[in-house]
This record gives sequence, structure tokens and C-alpha cells, in this order.
Amino acid sequence: MTISEKDVLDITPRKTNRAEALYVPAILKGLGTTFRHVFMNVPREGRNKKNIWVVRYPEQKREHREIIEGGIEPSTFRGVHRLNKDEKGRVRCVACFMCSTACPVNCIHIVAEEAPWEDREKYPKQFDIDELRCIYCGMCEEACPCDAIELTPHYEVVGLSRNEMIFDKTKLLEIFDQTIERKPM
Ligand code: SF4
Ligand code: SF4
Repeated sequence: MTISEKDVLDITPRKTNRAEALYVPAILKGLGTTFRHVFMNVPREGRNKKNIWVVRYPEQKREHREIIEGGIEPSTFRGVHRLNKDEKGRVRCVACFMCSTACPVNCIHIVAEEAPWEDREKYPKQFDIDELRCIYCGMCEEACPCDAIELTPHYEVVGLSRNEMIFDKTKLLEIFDQTIERKPM
């Protein structure tokens, strides 16, 4: 088989001129790109209103919401968990262990107890999530059969010790109260 002349590519490196040999044009081009991005991202009155990437945190906080046609919807951002309450203010969880079974890092710990209510058999006596171990994958909320566990837009999670970052049932129910307006069920 013969290869035609037009299919042959000459890959011999071309000779560089003196400026190219010193990398001056490439360096200037690279600096130009850097300064262009710096300039574009410096917050300035008026223009920065369109610049969604710059927020003056902590004075300014990014709302994890998406503007969709016809309104604003909670975004798919996955932050700290909450345990949802039902219309009577009770924890929705029925202690089925589906979330802890689905969790790939085993950071959910549940202790079940017989429920004091007639509409379910069990409820969680203890429900802990290690927020530092969690990878915020959302598998727990996907697995939950009664929408009892959800990840919220809340992302400011701080603590001075590892123990503080293990959120118990009380804390997870408090987060429900704090985030229900930002992320309705
Ligand atoms: S978000 Fe993922 S890692 Fe975190 S508790 Fe849920 S299942 Fe586990
Ligand atoms: S949060 Fe949902 S999946 Fe997890 S134990 Fe409760 S009801 Fe089951």
C-alpha cells in the first residue's frame, strides 16, 4: 500500500526565532490571560452584578438557588442534612435503616425504638450523622422511602471539635426549622 503525498504530515519542529527562544511571547501571552481574568473578576459596582463568581464572603453569601423560568427553585446543591418533620411536628423518620445502609461511608448511626404513635412501628431513638465523614453524595435522601432525610442549601458548618460535628437528632431537627423556608419539602 502506498501513502499519498498529501497524507504525509511533516512534524519536524520549526526553527524558533530569537524572541521565541527566550519564551518572551509565550510569557507575555500567559500574563495577558492572567490579567484579563483578574480584571474580569475584580468586583466593581455595576458590572459585578452580573458576575456570579465573586462574593464578598462572609458579608455576602451565595444563595444556592437557581433561577428558572417562572421563579426561583432551590438548587441541587447538597449541604448539611436535616431530618424532616411531618405535619404534626414529629420526626418523619420510621427508622428503616435504608439511609444508613445506602451510605457509602457509614456515617449514619441510628438506634430504633418502638414508636409511641399508631401510624408507624418504629422511630429513631437516636439518629446521628458524622458531618465530617460525610461526602455529601445524597445517597441517603435518595434511599429514604418517606422523605425524612434531606440535604439542605446550608453550608456553613463549623465546630471546634470532632464531636461537635456529629449531628444528633435534635440538631438535625433544628436544621429542618432553620432551612424549611430556603428549601421547602
Ligand atoms: S450524603 Fe452520602 S455520605 Fe453523606 S450521609 Fe448521606 S449517604 Fe452518607
Ligand atoms: S431517614 Fe429515611 S431512610 Fe433513614 S431510617 Fe429514617 S425513614 Fe429510613
